[in-house]
Amino acid sequence: MKLLEIKDLKVYFPIKDKLFGKPEKFIKAVNGVSFHVKKGETFGIVGESGSGKSTIAMTILGIHKKAGGEIVFKGKTIESKEDFKFLRKKVQIVLQDPEASLDPRKKIKYIVREGLDIYKIATKDERNKRVKEVILKVGLTEEVLNKYPHELSGGQKQRVSIARALVLEPELLILDEPTSSLDVSVQAQILNLLMDLQERLALTYIFISHDLKVVEHIADRVMIMYLGKIMEMGSAQDILLEPLHPYTKALLSSVPLPDPKRRKDEEVFEGEVPSPLDPPRGCPFKTRCKYAMNICDEPPKPVRMNDRLIFCHLYKEG
Ligand code: SF4
Repeated sequence: MKLLEIKDLKVYFPIKDKLFGKPEKFIKAVNGVSFHVKKGETFGIVGESGSGKSTIAMTILGIHKKAGGEIVFKGKTIESKEDFKFLRKKVQIVLQDPEASLDPRKKIKYIVREGLDIYKIATKDERNKRVKEVILKVGLTEEVLNKYPHELSGGQKQRVSIARALVLEPELLILDEPTSSLDVSVQAQILNLLMDLQERLALTYIFISHDLKVVEHIADRVMIMYLGKIMEMGSAQDILLEPLHPYTKALLSSVPLPDPKRRKDEEVFEGEVPSPLDPPRGCPFKTRCKYAMNICDEPPKPVRMNDRLIFCHLYKEG
């Protein structure tokens, strides 16, 4: 069952030359992206900084306005303020930096309870009971409830962020680089906690990361993005074991992997990432791709190969 469908999503940010003038240009942060997330799965979105992956998350939650396309959640098109209010009760986000996302002046019990207070869910006693239950679920003890964020370690703070998201009993959790700011040893603990919670609470995840190693660990399917567009999408296992798109190959070869078989398609990036204000015409990866041909001046159409979708002129269907 499709829990979330994103159809031809476009998110453009205007650039103005003068304070009150008309926008001179637009950064096309997300440019015609379509995907769906099935109930119970972990859908990974991978790309370098500026690929548009976090912009997609913020647009799903209504924080950024879309310039085009459709967001469908549980079969309902999300368009009005009321629709987004409905969606935000069911979709929660955990951000990269718990330090910045937890209010330093508030005790943990108020931070975790905030969502229940805003939506006036249950009585005060019941809310406090739910806060205690959820703090145990994320592997913390009740003692942390009376502490302030600065009294906790990085890993504990990220557990609090996860508890704050879970207290509203969401159906979809967007995890935006949830382990990037943590020490390597703590990263593994948080990933294991997320996988354990998914199994116990039947959660669905969108897992956003620049780190293919982390995504490999947790995702069922993965979408690789570059400059606001999809490069390749399919099962995480297929894509990570045998990447087909030149960008995915280059991305993978830049990550040291323990399995020597995985390095057989050694590729490296050429050149710099183009300015998002002036992206290449046609395939966005054209300026860095060693296979670029004349036809790459045209935007590649999606090519379906088994369960995989590839946007590259090197491939043909059938
Ligand atoms: Fe390279 Fe052309 Fe494929 Fe783009 S479409 S990745 S430029 S071969």
